[in-house]
Amino acid sequence: MKTVACPRCQKAVPWSAENRFRPFCSERCKHMDLGAWANDEYRIAHAEPPDYEPAVSPKPD
Ligand SMILES: [Zn+2]
Repeated sequence: MKTVACPRCQKAVPWSAENRFRPFCSERCKHMDLGAWANDEYRIAHAEPPDYEPAVSPKPD
């Protein structure tokens, strides 16, 4: 069976349809990784203000 290394703890994980946590070894590792993503990368990605200015058309007067 093909195995992959858990991205979180590097443990060998069977790559099978039954492993619903793949590529992680366990629910715990999966949640830890998602938590890190949510706490760090997601926040950084949204730290900068949106590069958007409302399109205000000057009204003819
Ligand atoms: Zn793991």
